[in-house]
Amino acid sequence: MTSRVRSEALFQAAQKRIPGGVDSPVRAFRGVGGSPLFIDRGEGSRIWDADGNEYIDYVLSWGPLILGHAHPRVVAVVREAAGRGTSYGAPTAAETELAELVQEAYPSMELLRFVNSGTEATMSALRVARGFTGRDIIVKFEGCYHGHADGLLVKAGSGGATLGIPDSAGVPADYARNTITLPYNDAEALENLFLREGKNIAALILEPVGGNMGLVPPEAGFMEMVRRSTKGSNSLLIFDEVMTGFRVARGGAQSLFGIQPDLTTLGKVIGGGMPVGAYGGRREVMEVVSPLGPVYQAGTLSGNPLAMAAGVETLRIIKEEGLPEALEDRGRRLEEGMAEAARRAGVATWGARRGSMFCTFFQEGPVRDFADAQRSDTEKFARFFHAMLERGVALAPSQFEVGFLSSAHTEAEIETTLEAAREAFAAI
Ligand SMILES: *Cc1c(COP(=O)(O)O)cnc(C)c1O
Repeated sequence: MTSRVRSEALFQAAQKRIPGGVDSPVRAFRGVGGSPLFIDRGEGSRIWDADGNEYIDYVLSWGPLILGHAHPRVVAVVREAAGRGTSYGAPTAAETELAELVQEAYPSMELLRFVNSGTEATMSALRVARGFTGRDIIVKFEGCYHGHADGLLVKAGSGGATLGIPDSAGVPADYARNTITLPYNDAEALENLFLREGKNIAALILEPVGGNMGLVPPEAGFMEMVRRSTKGSNSLLIFDEVMTGFRVARGGAQSLFGIQPDLTTLGKVIGGGMPVGAYGGRREVMEVVSPLGPVYQAGTLSGNPLAMAAGVETLRIIKEEGLPEALEDRGRRLEEGMAEAARRAGVATWGARRGSMFCTFFQEGPVRDFADAQRSDTEKFARFFHAMLERGVALAPSQFEVGFLSSAHTEAEIETTLEAAREAFAAI
């Protein structure tokens, strides 16, 4: 057994002061048992924990680090920016530069604004949609995560297309009632809802490739139905590309599927590991945002110069290196190798991958919505997770999360990972 004495002591100390010892719940390892690694440093595809153990990292801060940890060019620009001051609360040239780099890949974002997280981006996009349409109802899909804003922490009531009930204590029922939840990939339920309720719906928000219930891609025709239904009732379509942005393709899922959303939210990759989110879309819609229009949204640290510097440099490198498309071969090798390793060990799995995001469900599949995803053998997943960790491979500590590749992951490291997977599948 690898020693994790330091991590465990740090976790004990953290729990005395921070709820559950963590600042974001999934970090606590509740989905797999055991106690979390406390990380000391990262470099490229690797992280080192507080006990000095080394891992190949497929969490990558939950997606942002498409260039790997501590990319020298990103570190250099952040250092340089910090030397000129960490925040001014006034506009800087870097914000326009980052906006330009984003818009080049996401032309649907004619106007966009930077915020500090994905949560803020989706929350603001919904306010804009409501302000623009003068309607209150929001539609989301079960298993799609859009950050922790009140109206988005909602699950379906009984029987699919029903008004929402809160999914978290502290969310007023009155508030959740304005959110309708549907099963992912259910084109018929979607069409029926919009035929019935369309004129009251401000927006439909979705992950165009589901990445927060494990990886669940949309089925053929589903996105077209999503676009047609929203357009038909003058409701706005919001693509939450906080995870898929610069991950499933440089231009996100919207470029992959050739669908133009009215609004897009981004986060994760565009901040290069610093806290950044963005929301934007059609000019006439975004013109409702203050100071141009009546929808208020603000941020003391929004467009922070360190974060903008990291984002600009990251997006430049992405462009130079042709990411994430350049990761396709490595992604495919990993996907096929994992499936092969599971098959040989006689473990039932269902694999999914889009671009540099991948996932292995511990079940036969197919997995096309959240209910399907939940049929996975989470105990088997937990054993696999720990068996991989023991062999120096860090996966996300939950069956319902995806893995990420970076440009720093070499072919040799992928082979090392697959060797670990062969042993791990055999061991469970
Ligand atoms: C991570 C994520 C968010 C929330 O972003 P935070 O920066 O954690 O607030 C929103 N939507 C999607 C699709 C995400 O994956």
